[in-house]
Amino acid sequence: MIDFRSDTVTVPTKTMRVAMANAEVGDDVYGDDPTVNALEAMSAERFGFDAALFTSSGTQANLLALMSHCERGDEYICGQQAHNYKFEGGGAAVLGSVQPQPLTNQVDGSLLLTDIEAAIKPDDPHFAQTRLLSLENTIGGKILSQSYLASAQALAFNHGLKIHLDGARVANAAVAQNIPISEITQYFDSVSICLSKGLCAPIGSILLGDALLIKKARRWRKVLGGGMRQAGILAAAAQLAITDQVERLADDHDNAAYLAKALGQLSEFDVDLSLVQTNMVFAKIVGNLDVKLLVRKLKDKGILVTENTTLRLVTHRDVSRQDIEYFITTLKSLLK
Ligand SMILES: *Cc1c(COP(=O)(O)O)cnc(C)c1O
Repeated sequence: MIDFRSDTVTVPTKTMRVAMANAEVGDDVYGDDPTVNALEAMSAERFGFDAALFTSSGTQANLLALMSHCERGDEYICGQQAHNYKFEGGGAAVLGSVQPQPLTNQVDGSLLLTDIEAAIKPDDPHFAQTRLLSLENTIGGKILSQSYLASAQALAFNHGLKIHLDGARVANAAVAQNIPISEITQYFDSVSICLSKGLCAPIGSILLGDALLIKKARRWRKVLGGGMRQAGILAAAAQLAITDQVERLADDHDNAAYLAKALGQLSEFDVDLSLVQTNMVFAKIVGNLDVKLLVRKLKDKGILVTENTTLRLVTHRDVSRQDIEYFITTLKSLLK
């Protein structure tokens, strides 16, 4: 199957499999797993933080950040489209007693600084206490500009807020701008990064922060059942995700641009090419195309896409240029 549903479908590379088989391991809850320790140390160093924590998922890394920055009755400001508001089951509220304050995302994925400022609550018992600003980069495949991040950081600092980045795909944002990941993460007090998406690790995310934040997060991770034992088997693959898979993301971006252009030439779809900045393509359906039927027919031809009013297609290591050409040819013949 050619799977455009998400970059989460990437499978571990051969090198990862070998590293996993040979990984030195210990009980990570005791801090005894040398491979996990090496991954955490390497991540902290590379991305410019005091400390790092290996987590079972991106959702867990984000939740740990929210629960470690905020206490019961605090709130975090985020986008209506933020993963850690809309797509994580309300975890911060359910498990952390932390209230989200979502704001409208602009077309480019950003939050207006004036909106953020207006949402910060005064110190008054009527209100939850605003503690944290949470941004996402990339968001829907779009990149927040470096100058925007600098302004958001300054705003947070001036209001005594901490600032978190859901950087599930921050490596995509860095590669697309031809800068190191640390140039993006420098603006944040904490960052979560998914290693199991375009970077091909089978499982795991990393949370970055200062020593105190990571200490709190380590405690909450155990409380949430995320303390893992011989997790070095996973950390071995995660290390290779960081060292070997980042630069390759440029191919995914080229493929997404190619795919977007080809789709945009079909009258059945409307693609805003300016919003195709990394590995995601959104194609609006024009007219009354039966999408359900189309998706079913594509599946019969060995192609998986997410079914919605807008087609979302994600490029990744296991989708080649040839696969995209086959998809476009197949699509054209099905549309006839
Ligand atoms: C995938 C994703 C997450 C969550 O990661 P999981 O590992 O699926 O829990 C968080 N934020 C963003 C932006 C994501 O795309």
